[in-house]
Amino acid sequence: MAAGFEQTAFTNSYEFTQGAGYALPEYPFVVPAELRSGEVSHHPIVIAGGGLAGLTLACSLARYGVAAVLLDEDNTVGVKGASSRGICYTQKSLEIFHRLGIYERIAAKGVQWSVGRTFAGADEVYSFDLRQQSAYNLSSQPPFINIQQFYVEAYLVQRIRELGHVDLRWCNRVSAFEQNDEGATLTVTTPAGEYRIRADYIIDATGSHSPFRAWTGASFTARKGDDRWCIADVRFRTQQPHATERHTWVQAPFNENRAVWQHPMGDQVWRIDYQMEPDADPQYVSREDVVRERLARHFGEGCEVEMVWIGPYAYRSECIDHMRHGRVFFMGDAAKVVSPFGARGGNTGIADADNLAWKLAAVLKGRAAAALLDTYHEERHEAACQNVLVTNRTTRFLRPAQGAETLFRQAALGLARQYVFARQLVNTGRMAIANPYTRSSACDGTGGLPVQNVSFEWPDGSAGCVNELLQWADGRLLLLRFGALGRGALERLRALVQAAPVRCVQVVGVGDTVAAVEHVRDVDGHLKGACHVFGHSWALVRPDSYVAACGDDIDAALVRAIAQSMGAAELDRDCA
Ligand SMILES: Cc1cc2nc3c(=O)[nH]c(=O)nc-3n(C[C@H](O)[C@H](O)[C@H](O)COP(=O)(O)OP(=O)(O)OC[C@H]3O[C@@H](n4cnc5c(N)ncnc54)[C@H](O)[C@@H]3O)c2cc1C
Repeated sequence: MAAGFEQTAFTNSYEFTQGAGYALPEYPFVVPAELRSGEVSHHPIVIAGGGLAGLTLACSLARYGVAAVLLDEDNTVGVKGASSRGICYTQKSLEIFHRLGIYERIAAKGVQWSVGRTFAGADEVYSFDLRQQSAYNLSSQPPFINIQQFYVEAYLVQRIRELGHVDLRWCNRVSAFEQNDEGATLTVTTPAGEYRIRADYIIDATGSHSPFRAWTGASFTARKGDDRWCIADVRFRTQQPHATERHTWVQAPFNENRAVWQHPMGDQVWRIDYQMEPDADPQYVSREDVVRERLARHFGEGCEVEMVWIGPYAYRSECIDHMRHGRVFFMGDAAKVVSPFGARGGNTGIADADNLAWKLAAVLKGRAAAALLDTYHEERHEAACQNVLVTNRTTRFLRPAQGAETLFRQAALGLARQYVFARQLVNTGRMAIANPYTRSSACDGTGGLPVQNVSFEWPDGSAGCVNELLQWADGRLLLLRFGALGRGALERLRALVQAAPVRCVQVVGVGDTVAAVEHVRDVDGHLKGACHVFGHSWALVRPDSYVAACGDDIDAALVRAIAQSMGAAELDRDCA
């Protein structure tokens, strides 16, 4: 082993102190070509960190046919000692995984849920069913699937290997970094020695202990509390206790009136997460006999459980001020860290990756201006700030400060027991959503909203979905032209499609005649609704399934919108 490598500490900001009960896959270390040749290689993209965010980016780039190198200090998925972290994956993440080709694996292993219930003592004080909400019920993917995070990461690794293009390097730790006008250079430490690698773009996906923050001088805002939790991932040997719903207690009588979370996940394992006393001793609260006693208070003395994993944790809240520093893009926990309430950490890291992947692919393929890459910060920093804000509010409800916050919580719970209007005030985590982009220079005022993966009919009557159209557009913009098409509009569309990085499809409703372009049928209007097209006749949809712009005529406004979506002032007519 090279000096220094064996000292790697596998940690993350959540301060897990024990537990490694899950058997994780291990990937072999392969001596990199640079160590054999002694040369410094140059690559368009190097990704540092193979967690949820880094692997999603790598998989997405592979799908666009873009080459990248991914370096991870570990030889497995998950983080050693903290293997069971994320469990809830949102519809938007599931739609992204559908595009990447791993959704079926996730659906087969995970547990779908849409109902959440919150209790205070014995009273149910809030409940929701996401399937009843229009924001969720039209997609081909369910509102949520619960699955252990390391399964998702392992499926991403499998898929990257199937797709090719990405060089996955395990036991490769980035130990130094420098950048200048010509490129960025990383020093990489491996069990066989140290080497250097150069890149045009570096993606920092090293998680919340990112060394790149210090290397680039990136500033960030941080906040840390004294709230402590202890996870027990268990399999019930006696009764299966619950419906497949998310249950949360703000005040659980069986946990000294502190909060508790209860979620089903893959392999019939249940995540039972108990809030501890502030600053509780993690060693003590995670001792097996102490955890068993807690479970017996919760589920009854006769309840027998197999202990799969125990993980005490604390959390902090952090947000970097700028998500791009020269050649380095920060994503996932490297860019922001949030408390786990609402499942916003991993899901927004996945969205960061989806956002940056198509932009890098478009720039490297010469379809977009390099300025498009700056819109990554504009869009994902807005999302990061929003997610930090929302999760901090939940944190303050669950661990209120003395005084006004505690009074507010008592009042909210008291009212929620009696009045429906007050139930909205009970905050055990606002579930992650696909964040809108309101200040992006790549979207005009009509764009910036996510498009759900809704269904329509192909010309032969078979069912299709938005992701299939995006697949067909292959990294280009998708122009959806709704309704009938006159001859003049048809000619202008043809010219546009030839000259711009756009694929066009006519979306016909009941009674619309089909023009001589590719078309699909949107009999129920779901596709039009998903694109937020109200009164407009076209929508420009980006490869990450966000609307860039909507409009009416096939005229200069559409040409401008295409250029703007590609980070340019004017349309480059040679970039189709
Ligand atoms: C209890 C708990 C529950 C959670 N529940 C959810 C949930 O339900 N849903 C959700 O979406 N999120 C959840 N989260 C948050 C989620 O786990 C994180 O947001 C997510 O893991 C972040 O992914 P990442 O890829 O940014 O970072 P990480 O997963 O931390 O990955 C970083 C990777 O970088 C590698 N690395 C680090 N340093 C280097 C280096 N110098 N060189 C090379 N490689 C390096 C590491 O080996 C690791 O593989 C939860 C978190 C906790 C603690």
